[in-house]
Amino acid sequence: MSLQDTRQKLRNELEAPAPLRAFGTGWISGVAGLALGLIGLALVVSMRAPGQFAMPELSALHANHWFKLGVLVILLLGFAASVLSLALRASKLLGTLGAVAALLAALLGGSASPALTPDPTPLFLGLDWFALNVLFTGLIFIPMERISPLRAEQPLFRDEWREDIFYYLVSSFMVQVLAFVSFAPAKWVAAASALVSLHRAFHRVPWLWNFHAVHHSAQHMDWMAGARMHFLEILILRTLTVIPMFALGFAPTAVNVYILLVYLYSTFIHANLSWRLPVVDQLLVTPRFHHWHHGIEKEAIDVNFSIHFPLFDRLFGTHYLPKDKWPAGYGIEGHPVPKGYWAQLLYPFRRR
Ligand SMILES: [Zn+2]
Ligand SMILES: [Zn+2]
Repeated sequence: MSLQDTRQKLRNELEAPAPLRAFGTGWISGVAGLALGLIGLALVVSMRAPGQFAMPELSALHANHWFKLGVLVILLLGFAASVLSLALRASKLLGTLGAVAALLAALLGGSASPALTPDPTPLFLGLDWFALNVLFTGLIFIPMERISPLRAEQPLFRDEWREDIFYYLVSSFMVQVLAFVSFAPAKWVAAASALVSLHRAFHRVPWLWNFHAVHHSAQHMDWMAGARMHFLEILILRTLTVIPMFALGFAPTAVNVYILLVYLYSTFIHANLSWRLPVVDQLLVTPRFHHWHHGIEKEAIDVNFSIHFPLFDRLFGTHYLPKDKWPAGYGIEGHPVPKGYWAQLLYPFRRR
């Protein structure tokens, strides 16, 4: 079986039709086992080669007893879930790959891994950050989206999930570059209104729109969809928000907490959640408010630019939140943005 075959078979397994994903088919254990096995493997690799694959803030944690115990638990759970899937499921692919990933991590030294390699350059890829990011965001949002889904029929591995996970990977790998330009918001409201204006500019200025169109090309909304953003847009946003922040010196810890909150909040407003949140939606941006920003309908064009406070859209006359209604679909009319990470990276630069 070639690598290409295996990849296609794995994709078919992850995207299996509903009856083959039901409780008791070994799908849930297979997916959990594979995800935990790969997350554990990524963490062990970053513990072995911290100079290349670990964020300095996290590599300080690697020697911590609790961190090691956490990695051990991830690997053991990943292995156990994979074995359960092998017992339950007709196709052995998910279980085998999950078990192999966990065993490979054990062979590399498992949770006891000390650093192996010297660190010749100050550059690194945030592999440990990617693993923890997917683990914790998934642990928070997958159950939430299952308990109260907006679109119950939408599976976890829906159309274009691979692109969006790749967006996660790129942002995590580039965490060093992004941290360099993003020192964090100073005055909350000033920053929020600057972001709203910036967001508006991304819609109104044609060449900026070509970048932002990538974010709006998502045809499915869930916790993964928020990650879809052109790399240059992320850079521009971070660079321009940093200017007011430099003026007011906030403590680094406060800044990091703020960045984490903004990140979780952005994931939340894209999530496939049916929560209507009346009253709250008058004060704060909710999933339904931001879903309308992504809506395919005519009425959804150029509305709801606010990231935190809908008040700004009320002031600008761009507030749109019809009672109890959700958009019928998402994306840009005619769906001009191509599929695939690299095609989307090049999209703004293409001649039209
Ligand atoms: Zn937008
Ligand atoms: Zn969005």
